[in-house]
Amino acid sequence: MALRKIVEQGEDCLTKVCRPVTAFNSRLHQLLDDMAETLSEANGAGLAAPQVGVLRRVCLVLDEDAEEFLELVNPEILSQSGEQTGLEGCLSVPGKWGIVTRPNVVRVRAQDRYGDWFEAEGEGLTARAFCHEIEHLDGHMYTEHIDRFLTEEELETYLEEEEE
Ligand code: ZN
Repeated sequence: MALRKIVEQGEDCLTKVCRPVTAFNSRLHQLLDDMAETLSEANGAGLAAPQVGVLRRVCLVLDEDAEEFLELVNPEILSQSGEQTGLEGCLSVPGKWGIVTRPNVVRVRAQDRYGDWFEAEGEGLTARAFCHEIEHLDGHMYTEHIDRFLTEEELETYLEEEEE
């Protein structure tokens, strides 16, 4: 496994529509392993392949309950319900945060690293991460949903309120 460099907003690869994965080979497994290591190291809730410069439909999402990363290859959102409004950030936009409204429950369908299809449902942070990461695969970012970033003061107030 190896750490990969996370590209930052402004780089072309973050605005492209990624191609589906068709070969479930050792190269894909290497990419997934490297992404898991990179995501753990960065302490994030999710990571999409274009964020490490690979234009393929691959992403990882932290499954809070299982405390592990879910590997999603060629993921699609099947259904979504409810609403949550909360803090969102991105490893490609380091140190910045915004408030984004997302569905509260999201069901996805994806292939695993061997090409087998499965379905998964996420709530709260996991649902937010499903939406955020799958958007990356179409060249979109959460910053398109916000008017501005939070100031440091607003961020502190927000985090204090969430703790209460
Ligand atoms: Zn992101």
